[in-house]
Amino acid sequence: MADLAGGPRPLSRQGAAPRWPRAVLKLSGEALASASSDETIDARTVRRIAAEIAESCDELGVELAVMVGGGNIWRGTTGAGEGMDRAASDTMGMLGTVINALALQDAIEREGRPTRVLSAIAMAEVCEPYIRRRAIRHLEKGRVVIFAAGMGNPYFTTDTPAALRAAEVEAGVILKGTHSGVDGVYSADPRIDPDATRFDEISFAEVVSRDLRVMDMTAITFCMDNALPILVFDLMEPGNIRGALMGEPIGTLIR
Ligand code: UDP
Repeated sequence: MADLAGGPRPLSRQGAAPRWPRAVLKLSGEALASASSDETIDARTVRRIAAEIAESCDELGVELAVMVGGGNIWRGTTGAGEGMDRAASDTMGMLGTVINALALQDAIEREGRPTRVLSAIAMAEVCEPYIRRRAIRHLEKGRVVIFAAGMGNPYFTTDTPAALRAAEVEAGVILKGTHSGVDGVYSADPRIDPDATRFDEISFAEVVSRDLRVMDMTAITFCMDNALPILVFDLMEPGNIRGALMGEPIGTLIR
């Protein structure tokens, strides 16, 4: 396996080196839906995100993996709140992420970029199982890796598996794309408090002490322990995936 740390950094077509040559993009399931349609998965939205992912890989030469959520289909806490067995409800949520992963795979491949879906729950007829060394190999070969079924265990959301997989494949950063109009980490909820200010950069310790709900706390403390930075940015702004990979000053960097 290539040693990324020692190897040459890829150059974008314009000659500038991307800041993050290998990254894991955390994509919420709800980012694949759209307020303008009733569909669980909005084809136009998926196509736009897929085009940005494919373009970023083509033009920047970066290696990109995506951890896709399933909140547009099912969240474990929804069923558990109705008295359902939590583990069963979470398993439904994980299966939802596989549906999203297949939608994303189809859309990215239609943009001409090869992909592999790697699921933490074995589903041999549909996709590959998650095997760390295989994930790294796919990335090295320029395939977009789509992680499905989170980490395969209930009682988690896809935030912590995004962090775990990023550490496992030695990604330099987690790109946490938001879809609610909040383009980073703020001192307070900017949708409620007009005086809220956005941090360009913030430490993990401050995110924890201020109890800022950026990602699940388990994911935040995991990233802190493993010195894995998180860039929180607005996924819905066209060009932002590319900008995030290039290290442009968008969103908030947590490190
Ligand atoms: N889930 C799980 N274990 C995992 C990842 C996900 O049990 O490792 C379940 C959990 O019920 C979660 C659902 O899958 O609510 C969908 O994921 P998530 O809530 O992260 O989706 P997102 O909010 O990112 O769309």
